[in-house]
Amino acid sequence: MPTHAYPRFAYDGPVAPGRYEVAVVGGGLVGLTVALDLARRGARVLLLDEDQTVSQGSRAICFAKRSLEIYDRLGLGARILAKGVMWNRGTVFFQHRAVYSFDLLPEEGHCFPAFVNLQQYYAEEWLTEACRATGLVELRWRHRVSGVQNGAEGVVLTVDTPDGAVRIEADWLLACDGARSLIGEALGLPFSGQVFRDRFLIVDVVMERDMPAERRFWFNPPFHPGGSVLLHRQPDNIWRIDFQLGPDADPEAEKAPGRVRARVAAMLGKDARFEIEWVSAYTFRCRRLAKFRHERIFFLGDAAHQVSPFGARGGNGGVQDADNLGWKLHAVLTGSAGEALLDSYDAERIPASDENIEASTRSTEFITPKGEAARAYRDAVLELSEAYPFARALVNSGRLSRPAILTESPLNTPDDAAWAAPSPAPGSVAIDAPVRIDGRDDWLLRHLGGNGFGLLLFGGAGDFRDAELARLPVRPVLVSNTRSDGALWDYSGVAAARYDARPRTAILLRPDQHVAARWRCLDPEAVATARRRALALEACSE
Ligand SMILES: Cc1cc2nc3c(=O)[nH]c(=O)nc-3n(C[C@H](O)[C@H](O)[C@H](O)COP(=O)(O)OP(=O)(O)OC[C@H]3O[C@@H](n4cnc5c(N)ncnc54)[C@H](O)[C@@H]3O)c2cc1C
Repeated sequence: MPTHAYPRFAYDGPVAPGRYEVAVVGGGLVGLTVALDLARRGARVLLLDEDQTVSQGSRAICFAKRSLEIYDRLGLGARILAKGVMWNRGTVFFQHRAVYSFDLLPEEGHCFPAFVNLQQYYAEEWLTEACRATGLVELRWRHRVSGVQNGAEGVVLTVDTPDGAVRIEADWLLACDGARSLIGEALGLPFSGQVFRDRFLIVDVVMERDMPAERRFWFNPPFHPGGSVLLHRQPDNIWRIDFQLGPDADPEAEKAPGRVRARVAAMLGKDARFEIEWVSAYTFRCRRLAKFRHERIFFLGDAAHQVSPFGARGGNGGVQDADNLGWKLHAVLTGSAGEALLDSYDAERIPASDENIEASTRSTEFITPKGEAARAYRDAVLELSEAYPFARALVNSGRLSRPAILTESPLNTPDDAAWAAPSPAPGSVAIDAPVRIDGRDDWLLRHLGGNGFGLLLFGGAGDFRDAELARLPVRPVLVSNTRSDGALWDYSGVAAARYDARPRTAILLRPDQHVAARWRCLDPEAVATARRRALALEACSE
């Protein structure tokens, strides 16, 4: 019996025929995220979804730090933290014993943990509410897009509603209609990649259990011989268990309540008290479209790429797509950039997608070894990992989602000096740090990102001349190691250390908080050139 009461969004009659600036097809995790991102920037968005509720059952639960930072920028960070289960640690088990534990975020001084577990339906519900509250997103439920014509000047859509079909046009179309994307199919776009045959069983159980909030992964445990098992804690005393079933399992037989109960009881102990909340069986694919931009249509999330769930890279990758496209499309809509900027969506998100596909494919190969030799290697690595740290690097129970580093992006201005790690290079996402402002504790990332570019300037007021600050084409964000008016106070020195900053260090940040350029010493002309390059307004001379 589901414990969650799914909302039923109203059908408010058919969408008005006509032309819309931005249409999003698909009100799932990614469509709602990009609609909210655009609306927060001031753009009007039409969002169409064939359904009238949120994601059903157990899908994404692990929201990575980068997604949490993006959701914080969109105004949902505190709500997610308050409800979600925070975790940084994981433990790997082999057979009957714990072989090692790891910590994904051992250092302090970050607003968000490595992960928060939260059911996808909560995220979608809150995104829907937030979209509605902007007054700029027109949400149309029970609107199924059934036809699409793409062109250099815009897109024509046929939308089926309970009151009949409506024809609308859009300047820009964001296809967020999931893995079975009708838009991709209508355009005849094939996916390339791998389809895996191994079947997995998801069981969500409700139980009260005092266990640390950590990811637990078993290889070949006594309660599930030959397979792997993954355990995650979710809010509302719900626990997600993934059982590897193998390629020949019969999914219907495996979902039978008696069989599921027996599996779970074998794992949790015969005296464990639990209720089964959700059962489903799944297989997966690791693949993507050749290109994500097709003239006026952009593909985001599962409509663009799909991965295995090991590593939590599906939803988190889609949220990063939304983060990447939102500011660029807004810049084009408002005339601060030309359409060339939109080509960088492919240049940046295709390598990011490839990284996710590769990581998730490798995890799958380790978790489901094909053949005796692969299994013997896998088991030897696990055996060694208990005593030898070098072997732990070879264990792959899922390389967990990380922010994409857009190293090869044409929007980056290359460094002209040496920098010490972990200072984020051009293309990397900004690193958070604790700061104080007006006597209260705050976080650096909360002062970066938005509609415009920002320039982190390290140093005291005396380090910068008013005349040079006045010539800056971007908003300066002063970070000082002493308390001073109008500056973020880096009271612990963590911000300066993380950015390898000295007085007059300048870091140019895009509206999505990625580093566009950095300099040891502020030069307003260099900032102006790098900003133009990051908006694809001019190429770099290097
Ligand atoms: C078992 C499992 C576990 C997972 N765990 C994680 C995890 O822990 N972390 C993580 O990051 N990811 C995880 N994922 C992946 C994650 O769920 C997906 O990547 C995510 O849902 C993709 O979001 P999306 O918005 O692109 O697509 P979807 O969520 O599929 O949304 C597509 C939307 O489009 C609508 N739609 C479809 N066709 C049309 C049409 N023709 N017209 C109008 N509307 C249409 C649908 O109604 C739906 O609302 C998991 C997935 C699975 C299956």
